[in-house]
Formats: sequence, structure tokens, C-alpha cells
Amino acid sequence: MLGFPDDVLVTDAAALDWAADDFGHVVRQRPVGVLRTTSADDVAAVVRLARARGLAVVPRAEGHSTGGQAQAAGGIVLDMTGFRAVHRVTAEHAVVDAGARWSDVLAATLPLGVTPPVLTDYLDLSVGGTLSVGGLGGASHHFGAQTDNVVELLVVTPDGERVTCSPTFHPDVFDAVRAGRGRRGVILRATVRLVPAHTHARCFRLRYDRLADFLHDQRLLMAERRFDHLEGRAKPDGVGGWGFRIDATAYFTPPGSPPEPLDGLRDRREAAEVDTVTYRHFANRMADDVAALRVLGPWRWPHPWLNVLLPDAAAEAVLAESLAGLVVGDTGVVLVYPVPRARFHTPGLRLPDSPTAFLLALLRTADSASTLRAMVEHNHALLRLCSASGATTYLP
Ligand SMILES: Cc1cc2nc3c(=O)[nH]c(=O)nc-3n(C[C@H](O)[C@H](O)[C@H](O)COP(=O)(O)OP(=O)(O)OC[C@H]3O[C@@H](n4cnc5c(N)ncnc54)[C@H](O)[C@@H]3O)c2cc1C
Repeated sequence: MLGFPDDVLVTDAAALDWAADDFGHVVRQRPVGVLRTTSADDVAAVVRLARARGLAVVPRAEGHSTGGQAQAAGGIVLDMTGFRAVHRVTAEHAVVDAGARWSDVLAATLPLGVTPPVLTDYLDLSVGGTLSVGGLGGASHHFGAQTDNVVELLVVTPDGERVTCSPTFHPDVFDAVRAGRGRRGVILRATVRLVPAHTHARCFRLRYDRLADFLHDQRLLMAERRFDHLEGRAKPDGVGGWGFRIDATAYFTPPGSPPEPLDGLRDRREAAEVDTVTYRHFANRMADDVAALRVLGPWRWPHPWLNVLLPDAAAEAVLAESLAGLVVGDTGVVLVYPVPRARFHTPGLRLPDSPTAFLLALLRTADSASTLRAMVEHNHALLRLCSASGATTYLP
């Protein structure tokens, strides 16, 4: 096909089915071919040839999209998992292929005592995959998105040109491809910023009965930057309502002592939990849960996820309305945490018009077709509610 050997531009049913699916299992669009290569020349050539024939070309790496973002109906999917090398790590930068996972990057940087400043909660996402959406995490209140912490990219543009770009060199390409959802160029290689890594993490889990107190303390902790990592979640309280938890983490390196920056917070202090783990363990904290979900099955079930960024002024009302009657099931998670707009500089990543935004990530799993339909419909209603309040969609 398009002059490529059959084992490079693959068209067998297994390959097309693989490319028509993702972690969400909600959207299924079959391409006509899957490019499996480790050659940047092949990527550039297929982009040019497909463009000339009017075919969509969409890169895919770990396939952890939940809404078909890495699919190409009737087009070509580029399997980026062949581009997985970590080429070079210095005290300040790592040069990595776009198909490398963040877990690969961290494994290469930690022995040198450095880390990417922002990591996603789950590390087995590809560098190219998260740079194509933004890449948010608990350190985003300090450093913005992962796309704000990349200094250079090697890209194949939609014209099939290979271009090295940065904030000062081909900035138009740099700005288009970051958070470009794989539709504004293919990232082949990234130079990501690194910062010194502490060896340990002191993790505080602070509990709240009232949404207003939870949001108050999140705003305070974000503004005062007391912690290195700040997230939070809403959880059913078991009696028909919701409880809230702030997950705040401070890094330190013994013999330095861990900070305890809890003054003036409104949490139920008697319910607080604190523990200390290594930084490596903290960064990879989802690993045990993921292993269990893989064994038990829900990791493979449909994930009709909804991610929005709410403007601060509407956050409390929208959250209260969204949570009322919300069913999350045994494995569902509702993440809520604040990010300051001033730390974000990626043009393609849309934030609400508000100095502070709250990420609301409604991460549910459907155990049957009827539950999936109901959750998808419910997500549409929630999206309308959020959009009407000035929210933007993350991972649209
Ligand atoms: C369990 C789990 C946890 C998550 N946690 C977080 C989190 O903490 N923070 C966060 O921000 N997000 C999180 N996400 C969302 C995740 O960041 C995005 O879905 C991301 O795009 C997935 O990366 P991937 O490698 O699986 O990409 P894929 O699903 O393969 O692709 C995703 C998008 O990136 C594009 N793309 C992939 N590779 C390239 C490339 N080389 N060049 C250009 N475009 C490319 C694709 O075309 C597609 O649009 C999570 C998702 C899951 C499933």
C-alpha cells in the first residue's frame, strides 16, 4: 500500500482492529492501514503520500485515549511505539523519542538525581501522547503542563517536512504541535526539561465533609505553594453524600526533615493520614492499583471518561450539581484539583478565562453495555452544564 512493504504499512485485520480501539473502548474507527516502523523517513513519506490522497494520518502510541483521539477513520494510523529510545540525559534535559513512556524517562533520569517537573498520575503514557494533549499533574500548580516544560521538538509537519522547533526556532510549528492532538504534526523526539529530584515524599491525605472547605484549602495550598504536589478527589461517603480528600505531598531528602505545612487548614485533622515513601514510589503510585485492576478485569472495560477545567467562580456550584446523584461504581474516581492559569503557556491547551481553574476528571468504568450508554449520555449532560459555566474540555 502506498508503495510500502506489507510489514511496514500493515493492513491485516488484527492491526486495523488494534488501531480502531483505545483504553476508552467507547469510539471505534477503523483505519485502512497501520504504519509500523522505526524510521523517521517512513513517517515523513507516509504523511506526504497520505496527504496527496486526502487520507487522514494520526499518530498513536500507548492508546490510552478514551475518546478515539488516536484513531483515523479510513486513514492511516502511525504506530509510534517503535520510537522508544531515551537518547541522552543531562542535569537539565532529557532527549527522548516520542514513543518512550514517562516511566522510561524517569527510569533514566532518577539515577542522575533529576526528574521531569510535571508527571502524569499514570506513568505508562507516551511522551508524544501527553505532549499532544497537555499533560497535567499535581505539580502543574508550580510548572504548568508537560507541554510547558519541553524545550525542543523534532516534528514531521502535516506537509511531511522534518522540522526541529523550539520557542525561538520555528515557533509556529512548536506551538501548533504541542497540545495539537496529533492533528498538527507528528512528534518524533522531544527535549524535556528536568529539575533536581528529592529522594523522598511526605504524603498528606486531608479529609473534608464540606465541598466549600475542600475548595478553600485547595485554593490556599495552590496560592501559597506549600506543597510540591497537590491533587484531590471526591468520594462517596457511604450514606448518600460525598466526602472530599486533598492529597498534598512535600518532597525532601534525608537527613533534611520533611515539612509539615498544615497550619490554618480546615480539614478534619483527626482523620488525616500521613506517610513517607520514596520519590520513585510516589511517582509510580498508581502501579499497584493498575495491577489489581488488570487482574480483576475493569482495566479492560469501557472507560467513558470526562475531563473538564472549571473556572474558579463556577467550581463549587458546578461540582455540587455534578456530584448530586452521580454513580461512580467500585472503581470510579473523581479527581478535583486547582491549577493557576499564570503557569500555563501552551497556546493549544485551552483553559477557562479565570486566574484559577479546577480540573474535574470523572473517571468511570462501565461494566455493561447499558451502563456504558447511560454514562456516555450523562457525560453529555454534564459537559453541557460545565460548558455553560465557562469550562473548557481537557482531552476533547
Ligand atoms: C490511566 C490513565 C491515567 C491518566 N492520567 C493522566 C494525568 O494524570 N494527566 C493527564 O494530563 N492525562 C492523563 N491521562 C490522559 C493521557 O494523558 C492522554 O490520554 C494521553 O494522550 C495518552 O497518551 P498515549 O501515549 O496513550 O497516547 P495515545 O492514546 O496513543 O494518543 C493520544 C493522542 O496523542 C496523539 N499522539 C500520540 N503520539 C503522538 C506523537 N508522537 N506525535 C503527535 N501526536 C501524538 C494521538 O494522535 C492522540 O491524539 C491518563 C490516561 C489514562 C488512561
